[in-house]
This record gives sequence, C-alpha cells and structure tokens, in this order.
Amino acid sequence: MTAAARPLLIRARQMLDGTGGRIEEAALLVEGERIRAVGRAADIGTPDGARVIDHSGTAMPGMIDVHVHLRAPGRPGEGLAEAVDLARISYAETALRASKHARDTLRAGFTAVRDCAAPGGVVIDLRNAIETGYVDGPRIKACGQGLTVTGGHMDRPLFSDHVRVDGLAAPCLGADGFREGVRAQLRRGADFIKLNTWVSFHDSPDRFWRREMTDAEIAAACDEAHAHGVHVAAHVYGPEGVAASVRNGVDTIEHGHWIDAPTVELMAERGTTFVPTLTVNEVHARHALQDPDLPEKYKRWHRRSSEDKWETLERVRAAGIRVCTGTDAGFQIEHGLWNAHELILLVRGGYTPMEAITAATANGADLLGIEAGRLVPGRLADLVLVAGDPLADLSILGQSEKLRAFKGGAEAGLDCQAGKSEIVIQ
Ligand SMILES: [Zn+2]
Repeated sequence: MTAAARPLLIRARQMLDGTGGRIEEAALLVEGERIRAVGRAADIGTPDGARVIDHSGTAMPGMIDVHVHLRAPGRPGEGLAEAVDLARISYAETALRASKHARDTLRAGFTAVRDCAAPGGVVIDLRNAIETGYVDGPRIKACGQGLTVTGGHMDRPLFSDHVRVDGLAAPCLGADGFREGVRAQLRRGADFIKLNTWVSFHDSPDRFWRREMTDAEIAAACDEAHAHGVHVAAHVYGPEGVAASVRNGVDTIEHGHWIDAPTVELMAERGTTFVPTLTVNEVHARHALQDPDLPEKYKRWHRRSSEDKWETLERVRAAGIRVCTGTDAGFQIEHGLWNAHELILLVRGGYTPMEAITAATANGADLLGIEAGRLVPGRLADLVLVAGDPLADLSILGQSEKLRAFKGGAEAGLDCQAGKSEIVIQ
C-alpha cells in the first residue's frame, strides 16, 4: 500500500473542532483528503495499515485569514515603494513572489486565505497553480483586482502624467461601470468582489471617513456579484459608510472602524460579516506614529482609530455578528509571521480564546464556502497540530516551529525540527 493510499490516524492530547467543541485524548482518522472519523482515541481504535501520528499537543482545524494581499511581502512603510516595485516587475514575477508568501502562510498553520486585491489576475493564477499541484500553498479565494472609483483608494496618482501603470486596480465609473467591473473580474476567474466604498479622511478633527462610491454604484456592483453567486467585500470606514455598504448589499465589512449602534443592528439584520483587521491597524499605527515625517493629521487618524476600534468590536461582539480573522498581511505586515496575531487581538477585544479560534476556523470556512474549518467527518482534512495548548496561550499559534499544517490530509512541507512529536509508521 502506498503512503498516500493509507489512512492517517492522528491521536492528540486534545482536539478543538472549530465550533467550540473539545475532546480530550482524541483521534482523527483521515482517508484521502477528507476526515473519516473523529472521537475519543479509545473509540476510534487503529485501522489496519494506518499511518499513525501520536501528538502530545492539540489538533485543530487549519486557520483561515480572510484578508491578505499575497502580491507584496508586507514591508513596513510601504506606499510609494510598493507601487514602484509592482510597476517595475512583471506579473509573472509578482506571481512567483506571491507563491513564496502563500507557502509561508500555509506553513504558519493557515490552510486557506482570501486575497483582497492583486495586480491583474496574478493571485487567481496562483490559486489555479496551487489547485493543480504545481506549487504549495493554502486554498485561495481571490477577487482579482479591487474595484475603485477613478482616483480612489486603489487608484491614487503616485506617478507623473507621462508614466502610465495599468492593472494594479480596476477603476470604474457609475453604476454601469461597476457592473462591468464585476463582470470583468468574474471573467478573469474571481471568487468574490472587492470594493472600496468609503475610505479614511484626514482633514477633519472629528470625521475620519468619507464617501468614494455612490449608493447606486455599490448597489449595482453587489447586484451583479450576487447574480453570479459571489459575495462582496468592502474596504469601508465610518458609520454612514458601513450603513450605505450594508444597505446596498455588501456582505463583508473590512476594517470598518467607527460603526455605531444602529449600523450594528442593520448588520445583524442582514447577516453581514465583520473583518476588523485589528492587526494591520495596530502595526500600521505603530509605524505611522514613529514616523517623524508623517504630518500630524495622519497621526491623529491612527491614534483615534486605534482607540475607537475596541468600541466598535465590542458592539459587534455583543450583537453576535459573525467575525472572521483577517490581518491585511502583505500591507505593512509579513506573511506567516502575523496571521495568528489577529486571534490574540480578538481576545484583547473581549472574545474568549475558543471564540477567537472559531473566528479563525469555522467562520472563515463558512465565509469562503470551503468544506474545511471544522474537524468533523466528511470535511476536508485541513488541520494544524499545535505543540501545546492554544486555549492556555494563543501566542503559540504564531510560532510556526510549533505547528504542523495539513491540507487535504497532506502535511505542508515543514522542515524536520527537534521537539516535534514523533511519527510512528506501523
Ligand atoms: Zn487590504
């Protein structure tokens, strides 16, 4: 029998199923790429010919980061430097670099990601290459290019008139323009649509957001996306912006600082998902506030969003709105190093460690529409073995040397390291 055809039995000190369930002295049987059985080790037994992994720590579903940008490495203080880099290198080189970021993410225990904008279709192509087995990486849901108004959040004039750079984002005009933008991304192979509806605003001491897309543009984009059965994510700030986005059909609110109580009620009513991206807010603010050249008004924005985001999160938590973990890795923060930090920040914001793990597993899988995120029979065997107890200390999930990631029952190409649990071939 070849190794691939043999069932895999994983026994672990404890198993977290992704929905709040916990089994001690657990076992999980994998056949092919799916989970066949889950339960107490004593009940599961050892099937004939099974490969057995005895793990002294925790088995849990592979984590999911629903807001990444695989195109870029995530160096601090990006902006112009990143744009120059993306303008200078070919799509092929961008995709090859993205493939390294994808591998780093998988090795960090993240078996699926949602990519929230890339030049051209590079991450769509990377997704296809991973699916067909040419390169290693997590499962990817990609939006292709982000849709933006002309001169908007993703279409800033960083270069002179005589320098033309196309393809980094997809500028659209008017309701029909956004409809066409949605169709173009779907034709290219997008899994969902990313809009930039309302953005940050720095010229006022008490209003930190402003409109980019009109209600009609948001409604048209969402209508067209939904007609094709895909969801819509919006980069959005401020109560009016979030309300306008949700009212006009947006499914996931990205960043979403300053959401007021009536808007949270509207989100609960519509079943909107919240992706607070606490990690990028924290890291970006740290860089911004240390930058001696950054004008005070930008620092003011960062100070206020850093403080006020906890109030928004508490409102969302109390209303029972679905929250997913998304870091914005690739913008200011490196892939693989920071993805799990979002769980720690959710706990700082009032969630229990178990709820944070559910946000990073079952909730993410439900949003992405993939049959993972839960360790139950029939699901894909996307899981991570943790050399310790994340319920006691979530920071262990950020230490990739203490993790072993499996995607579809196959272990990600981790180097052999001392201290890892022993594999016993029977
Ligand atoms: Zn982003």
